[in-house]
Amino acid sequence: MKRTALFPGSFDPITRGHESVIIRSLPLFDHIIIGIGDNTEKRSMFSIDQRLEWIRETFAAYPAISVEVYTGLTVDFCRSVGAQYILRGLRTSADFEFERSIGQINRKLHPDTETLFLLSLPEYTALNSSIVRDIIRHGGDPDSFVPEALKGKLHHNLSHEKK
Ligand code: ADP
Repeated sequence: MKRTALFPGSFDPITRGHESVIIRSLPLFDHIIIGIGDNTEKRSMFSIDQRLEWIRETFAAYPAISVEVYTGLTVDFCRSVGAQYILRGLRTSADFEFERSIGQINRKLHPDTETLFLLSLPEYTALNSSIVRDIIRHGGDPDSFVPEALKGKLHHNLSHEKK
């Protein structure tokens, strides 16, 4: 049976932390679907189309990685795409507490879906999309925190920010 994992998140924007977890987990799965959750309650800096394009560019060389946008419950999306696993990254104990409740509830909702965690690399423990957004907002250079494909592009896209 084909092992398919969903890596869900906002990816606003994708960072080297996300990229590292996804690439390190490649040997574990036949297919990894990066799922951009389209959460209308969450304000985003970058449009869904822009986030999708950057993720596609980041993983263009990896045929086992694809990207999709979804709405609704993550477990329902897993079912619809045939993903048996949800993949998440763990940076801190706060991540763990947050992820534990979501993982346990998701399993209750859909017992066939297992959540698997990969520890972040130490150099990425402090990194998250919100820090990258702050750097951009205040005119700093975010390039060392994002995948190669995004370098030099982030500051050009502030017009996408939702008001
Ligand atoms: P969410 O909107 O669910 O917070 P994110 O886009 O921030 O999603 O992150 C998606 C997944 O990537 C989560 O499992 C998160 O823990 C993981 N992640 C984010 N940043 C890092 C990092 N620097 N190192 C490892 N995992 C990370």
